[in-house]
Amino acid sequence: MVKCVACGNQWDLFQSPYCPKCLATQWELCPNLIAPKHDPGMLPSGAPFFRSIVTEDVVTRKSDFLEYTATSGNWYYSTQHQKYCVFCPDPLGVIPGSGIPRGSTVPTFAMDGLVVADATKDAHLYTEDQTKFRSGIRSGLYQPLGHCSEPGCSYLVVPGETKCALHRPNPYALP
Ligand SMILES: [Zn+2]
Ligand SMILES: [Zn+2]
Repeated sequence: MVKCVACGNQWDLFQSPYCPKCLATQWELCPNLIAPKHDPGMLPSGAPFFRSIVTEDVVTRKSDFLEYTATSGNWYYSTQHQKYCVFCPDPLGVIPGSGIPRGSTVPTFAMDGLVVADATKDAHLYTEDQTKFRSGIRSGLYQPLGHCSEPGCSYLVVPGETKCALHRPNPYALP
């Protein structure tokens, strides 16, 4: 466990390359965090494409979900979008969203994983099926973070860097 100099929170550098509490605060300030197409407040409404929405619970308890995801979720690099994301199965022990088939105006099935996409820049939330996300990990669509190049250190590498948060000149800087 390491201690964040900004907020005093202790966290596991094997799990998250940044302080989860500070990162969650940064995510919450992102203007596109919940896009209209993923917003349950827009229902019922149809679209000519499949989409997923988050639950009202995620909207109401946004801070809790973000901090939980930042603390317990897993980081990946999306080779398709060339951006980092954080995947969290069953955040806070609940189902975070549902899927709306093309042409339907209401959700018809549950989505059991929460994803913070573009986690180092313009963060936004969507839900994804755990089975589908995991098959994306196996196929290489989502790649795990690397480990610190400092001898004897195997903490997660801060995205875009070769060293972990501790071994960088400005240790706890957010993305
Ligand atoms: Zn912090
Ligand atoms: Zn290190």
